[in-house]
Amino acid sequence: MCGIFGIYGHDEAANIAYLGLHALQHRGQESAGICTSDGRQLRRHVAMGLVSERFGKETLAALPGRSAIGHVRYSTSGSSELRNAQPFLFEYAHGGLAVAHNGNLVNAAEIRSRLEGQGSIFQTSSDTEVIVHLLAQAREGDLLDRLTAALRQVSGAYSLLLLTEGRLIAARDPHGFRPLVIGRLRDSYVFASETSCFDLIEAEFIREVDPGEIVVADGVAVRSYRPLDPAPQRFCVFEHVYFARPDSLLNGRSVYRARERMGRRLAVEHPAPADVVIPVPDSGVPAAIGYSQQSGIPLEMGLIRSHYVGRTFIEPQDSIRHFGVRLKLSPVRSVVDGKRIVVIDDSLVRGTTSRKIVTMLRGAGAREVHLRISAPPTTHSCYYGIDTPTREELIASSHSTDEIRSYIGCDSLGYLSHEGMMAGANPSGEPDGTGFCSACFTGAYPVPVGLDQPAAAPPPVPDAPLVPLRRLKH
Ligand code: SF4
Repeated sequence: MCGIFGIYGHDEAANIAYLGLHALQHRGQESAGICTSDGRQLRRHVAMGLVSERFGKETLAALPGRSAIGHVRYSTSGSSELRNAQPFLFEYAHGGLAVAHNGNLVNAAEIRSRLEGQGSIFQTSSDTEVIVHLLAQAREGDLLDRLTAALRQVSGAYSLLLLTEGRLIAARDPHGFRPLVIGRLRDSYVFASETSCFDLIEAEFIREVDPGEIVVADGVAVRSYRPLDPAPQRFCVFEHVYFARPDSLLNGRSVYRARERMGRRLAVEHPAPADVVIPVPDSGVPAAIGYSQQSGIPLEMGLIRSHYVGRTFIEPQDSIRHFGVRLKLSPVRSVVDGKRIVVIDDSLVRGTTSRKIVTMLRGAGAREVHLRISAPPTTHSCYYGIDTPTREELIASSHSTDEIRSYIGCDSLGYLSHEGMMAGANPSGEPDGTGFCSACFTGAYPVPVGLDQPAAAPPPVPDAPLVPLRRLKH
């Protein structure tokens, strides 16, 4: 759960990176960082907290240069502390190197243990640092050769941005778990986790970085390389269900429309005898709109979300513990009182929040509460960069739908089928979801987890085809 942003060849690189990260803030709120290059030196600022809180005029002014990478973080690997805030910045034999990573490596612990056995000293507890050590250790070739050698040894999910004094490099793992897109802002090139930030900075979307592709921007051109062995695409379907912003495009398709389709399909699969459709805001809204369109049941905002509950909020203990959900969500009595309502949410993880919502709605006078989830039951943990609880904590891993309904206290509970979710995410694709990872719903992990994958000897990097995207001013 992280967002990354990069820009190459812009006079206000740090300011643009700030805006880009602002539009990616939903992907991580624990820490934020920007690293810039002025062609001779890399400079960085990282801090715990939100972009808008931690970057001011003076901080940005201290980050000169025409290229920058940035990162917003929600920890999945490594603890939540400043030393794990990215971009990381290292000095090695060939100069400065900054890196920003979205995703999670499944064999980082094994590689780290091997490297530490050989004398490497790690500065962080993040899996990302493994890539940097592997890169620094590679003896042959230029930066691209060394990066390729490093990436051939890691398994799992990575969308990466690397910055040196003269180059910005974007790379995506061969399965393409996490998104990464390329855009153009006048004469500059931008790279980001999602297209939503392109609208804010008025950049034009060019295309996705393809799975297994490495894109290098330098003072001459932007070039594309494909030195990694190809693998079946396994894009994270949960990005469509919940994680990405609804105004983004993923795989060229609107996230908003995908969620709306999922909601329509949910209404077909699990109709409810209700007077009103209520979304759990914000992420449940597009699916609720779809449910309402398909069922003909009017949509109303029966729950209001407070946007001022920060992550620093300390949950009160025991007697007033339930106030945590009440601070975030509040029922609108005039909408729910005396009504049969169908509540649409995008996922049900532990069940505790849904239970509190149902109790709250009944307390506001709801006559019946029917809960509909616009995704299948979450039965497995994610190892590829989304922060899900352990399998034991996932209520659907060990309880039937009726047992969950009883625990939550709703009148009925219905989940969207796996096929319905895939049809929503990719209406022209195969119903089995070819091209996607959906392991947290099925347990079918596309990359084995917890296994050390032996490092293959890196083959030579093939001739790099020049992709004439556009020449750059330096
Ligand atoms: Fe996405 Fe789930 Fe696969 Fe993780 S396991 S990458 S959350 S679909």
